[in-house]
Amino acid sequence: MSADSSIDQHIVYSTAYEADIGAHVFPTEKFRGVFERLVAEDGLERALEPERPDREALLRVHTEDYLRDLEGGRHTERTIASELPITGEIVEWFMLSCAGTVLACRQALALGWAAHLGGGFHHAFPARAEGFCYLNDLAVGARAVQADGSAERVAIIDVDVHQGNGTAAIFARDPTVFTFSIHQEDNYPIKERSDRDIGLLSFDPHRIGGPTVTDSVYLAELEPAVIDILDDFRPHLVLYQCGADPYQHDQLGGFRLTLEGLARRDATVLGACHERRVPVAITFGGGYAIDVADTIAIHLETVRTARRIWTAEPQAER
Ligand SMILES: [Zn+2]
Repeated sequence: MSADSSIDQHIVYSTAYEADIGAHVFPTEKFRGVFERLVAEDGLERALEPERPDREALLRVHTEDYLRDLEGGRHTERTIASELPITGEIVEWFMLSCAGTVLACRQALALGWAAHLGGGFHHAFPARAEGFCYLNDLAVGARAVQADGSAERVAIIDVDVHQGNGTAAIFARDPTVFTFSIHQEDNYPIKERSDRDIGLLSFDPHRIGGPTVTDSVYLAELEPAVIDILDDFRPHLVLYQCGADPYQHDQLGGFRLTLEGLARRDATVLGACHERRVPVAITFGGGYAIDVADTIAIHLETVRTARRIWTAEPQAER
């Protein structure tokens, strides 16, 4: 009998994540989509639910002025760069997403892995919104576990097709948090400098119509980088931002990864962490497949891969 027989303690989710953002490319229904499939197919009975975070947790990353703008739903120079509307419901979604990632970090540290069916909002900066991100839950999570003494060094492994620019900027001068981003160089956003960046072009500049970023090209770049980071930095916790948007049928990405390639991506990162006994907290990030069912399937596979890898571990070794 595995120590990990129940999935419930590993999954963090809130129905508040399905916020109404109007007609938009971001499918907020994907969170519920993954949750419902875990209930129907994987024996999930009850996910852990985040509560509104305390201000102190948010203030470790964000400024007081910016938080006040958000809470007041105000269009200011700090909130205007967001590509989402600003409503009470949407602000609540981001607040709970921060708490959800903190909770997933704590569960990961206790149990080896946890998946937040949400979060991964890596474009948010301390004092401003950007893209589809108001609050940087990854940064709030990393700082929360550092503040309570449960993890000294945290690595953020970000495989979203877009660079984790907000996260990179937040930790630019912090040697205790390692930021890694593998992303499409010729795409949004304006790049910041992570501790390690792999920016891949979606086209071959030397050969028109030449090969783009396929599964094998991508994985050949990813695997050695992840191993280097884990072995050199030796994190006590990894925050895995596993964006679904490097997918070949994504509307906002130019990579050509297949569903199988994305599953191998997850197995590469999660397997390398597990081998080294590094706990992992999963967050979702982007995903804009033409068919939202594909985005859901990609995220679901990440969660299942983590569960498979950690439950395969003999109990005696725990
Ligand atoms: Zn993205």
